[in-house]
Amino acid sequence: MKKLIAGNWKMNGSLASAMELARAVEASVASEPGLLSRCDFLVCPPFVHVGGVKPVLTHVSLGAQDCSVFTNGAYTGDVSADMLADMGCTHVILGHSERRQHFGETDGAIRQKAEKVWQAGMTALICVGETEAQREEGQEAHIVAEQMKHAIPDGATSRNVVVAYEPVWAIGTGKTATPDDIRTMHAFIKDQLSARFGDQPIRILYGGSVKPSNAGDIFNIPHVHGALIGGASLKSSDFIGIAKEVKELD
Ligand code: PEP
Repeated sequence: MKKLIAGNWKMNGSLASAMELARAVEASVASEPGLLSRCDFLVCPPFVHVGGVKPVLTHVSLGAQDCSVFTNGAYTGDVSADMLADMGCTHVILGHSERRQHFGETDGAIRQKAEKVWQAGMTALICVGETEAQREEGQEAHIVAEQMKHAIPDGATSRNVVVAYEPVWAIGTGKTATPDDIRTMHAFIKDQLSARFGDQPIRILYGGSVKPSNAGDIFNIPHVHGALIGGASLKSSDFIGIAKEVKELD
């Protein structure tokens, strides 16, 4: 399986800087065919930059960072899954811990959004992960199992879902989970997915302060099928540097 190298640009940049970043990522990916033989690439700009960057991306897929639970209509400020698909998006990040924390996003809402993403023909990139306090209490497996149970709709396949394991305490903090923590959790997530959806190759990404210097070790861990990258995705050399750490296919 190719690894998925996904960038979450969060609420950063201007249209000009988004275009510059998208152009730089596309140019690097296009100029190194070896990268594309081992990795798929995805960038997720803010909603307002999605349409701008689309024309410069050929080898890199386009995603969004959220979508509405509703299909269309009088929902001021919301953006529907259909609108994102119409703009050329293939993926939508759902349930990022920042949305859970700052916007009260629940597993139920994530599930509804995932269904809209599927109806629009896209892939839901569903984030799960425990807080530091939950890990200290030894609750991480329970928390992740509950999030997956309630946030991933029935009918998940390797084409319509990617799961991202992102320990909340490792996002944007510079702290990375240990290889043992990642190994244990990814094996657990794989087992949960197999028990519910059968033995299909649903990708499981790791996210949390991934950078070129730690990516190689992370990609060597079984059942790590790529990375969801925040801070380091804002610099094309770091984003591509992470992809260069993918040495072989699983
Ligand atoms: C993220 O936002 O999903 C993330 C993993 O951020 P960072 O890489 O900055 O920790």
